[in-house]
Amino acid sequence: MMGLKIRNLHVKIKENNREVLKGVNLTIPDGEIHAIMGPNGTGKSTLSQTIMGSPRYQVTQGTIEFNGHQLNNMPTDARARLGLFIGMQYPMEIKGVKNADFIREAVEATHNTGDHHVSILSFLKAMHKNMNILDMDDSYAERYLNEGFSGGEKKRNEVLQMMMIQPKLAILDEIDSGLDIDALHVISRGINHMRSPHFSAMIITHYNRILKYVKPDVVHVMMDGRMVTHGGPELADRLEREGYAGLRDDLGLHV
Ligand code: ADP
Ligand code: MG
Ligand code: MG
Repeated sequence: MMGLKIRNLHVKIKENNREVLKGVNLTIPDGEIHAIMGPNGTGKSTLSQTIMGSPRYQVTQGTIEFNGHQLNNMPTDARARLGLFIGMQYPMEIKGVKNADFIREAVEATHNTGDHHVSILSFLKAMHKNMNILDMDDSYAERYLNEGFSGGEKKRNEVLQMMMIQPKLAILDEIDSGLDIDALHVISRGINHMRSPHFSAMIITHYNRILKYVKPDVVHVMMDGRMVTHGGPELADRLEREGYAGLRDDLGLHV
């Protein structure tokens, strides 16, 4: 199967040996956009970091497969070359590194195979086109990575990186948190621009408002380290109305 396939994934935090993911099952077929919702502290960011291969987390059981490749022991850069991308919940700032240079590095690192180079001209063209789609001023190319960017500008910049890198699967961790309505529109436009039969996305969110603009094929609910149910966009609407308590009762969960 093409896409992401996670089976019975158990993960612990190396630092304190705590098990956070307790048997996650999740399939995101190629071309589909899936939302993941769930209370704070339930393991959503842990799941996304683990898919990218963060060294802070240890897989103790289960498998992560992407487009037929087993990811469990693969380094992060190899995962990125397979087409995986993560937009961070808390984007980092790097003083002294220009945004355009950082993004060009990332594009080179993921797409440059042997003698195939991305020309600087086509890079700059694509960069300006995408910044235009995201309503970003050209000056953001020359500024230091995320330094002095507002919360919303950082999130726009994560989406810009995604549009430049052209991943096959984008994991977007709370890309909509703290955004005003205009920024939310713009970011949704960027994600929708990526839609294709060969692009899939995992959108981690607390709010159904982004899902009004970026229509998910499936909404998953995660609680206490597991996926507990899934449905269509109406599930996100229900959570918005009723919170997690009603769902817990329905599912007979006592967590
Ligand atoms: P979510 O994204 O759903 O809010 P997280 O995956 O961030 O949840 O966190 C799940 C649990 O694991 C929380 O209790 C959090 O404090 C803990 N946790 C996650 N990563 C780390 C880490 N690197 N060190 C210590 N605790 C962590
Ligand atoms: Mg959280
Ligand atoms: Mg999180």
